[in-house]
Amino acid sequence: MGTAAEPRPAELPLPGGREGASVRLHPLLTGRMIGPEAWFLRQDGRLAWRWALGLGVPRRDWLEVPVPAFLLEHPGAGAVLIDTGLHPSVAVDPRKNLGRIQSTLFKDIEMDPGQAATAQLRRKGIEPAQVKAVVMTHLHPDHASAISEFPGATFVVSKAEWAAATSQGALHGYVKRQFDYAFDYRLLDFEGPDVESFATFGRSLDLFGDGSVRCVYTPGHTPGHLSVVLRLRRREALVAADAVYLRRNLDEMRLSHRTADDHLSERSLREIRRYAQDTPDALIIPGHDWNAWEELEAVYD
Ligand SMILES: [Zn+2]
Repeated sequence: MGTAAEPRPAELPLPGGREGASVRLHPLLTGRMIGPEAWFLRQDGRLAWRWALGLGVPRRDWLEVPVPAFLLEHPGAGAVLIDTGLHPSVAVDPRKNLGRIQSTLFKDIEMDPGQAATAQLRRKGIEPAQVKAVVMTHLHPDHASAISEFPGATFVVSKAEWAAATSQGALHGYVKRQFDYAFDYRLLDFEGPDVESFATFGRSLDLFGDGSVRCVYTPGHTPGHLSVVLRLRRREALVAADAVYLRRNLDEMRLSHRTADDHLSERSLREIRRYAQDTPDALIIPGHDWNAWEELEAVYD
């Protein structure tokens, strides 16, 4: 495939697990963008694809959405990230990192350099080099944009996602230059022997072996998408990422305009919905929902 990266199978658990551990969760807003509502929430009918691309839709009707990343503080493993958000250069020149196609698609990105995950970590007294592990929900450009900023980290990504991202490329939304580094990539095999069910999720992998960070398989948005269930001190949190763009996707059981696989997408949405019903005190964080984002606290113990 001609890439600098030579991923290896993940050997779980990753080091640092502590019995009974919980994590602190810091949601990080790395920028915002706008998109047509019909992109996030599928519409029916002949014109649906036009609306999804925003054709003939006035800008005032587009949705403003957050581009998040998440910092976890784990008692044994230290600082861990979920996704990387936007690269600091996007604040100045989106095209350089996102490429021509994506920077056209992600119109009107708003970011200031201080919103980059690295800058936010430093303000919290954490040097980016201290981040030992980064869990990638998937490799779309608004999630993978800042991978280059964490050369010393172990990147955990599903095997199916890696295969898709390295074989499909730009037409499916991946920007290879964002992840094409000789970094320590570890592939999670959701078909492998370590997989177990967790709560309503058919396939999960316990990252540190202590139940504090569980990757749950939620493919459909992309071929190898995963979400993350966290054990906080008093409750659980589900970082759904793009398995759920907006709360409305979940509430109305509506897919987004584009998925890699509708059937899988629907199944993942159903597993998440049942999780939310069975775990009513869990914090459910959708991937790109501004209202939900605004309700989040700066940090969760
Ligand atoms: Zn995505």
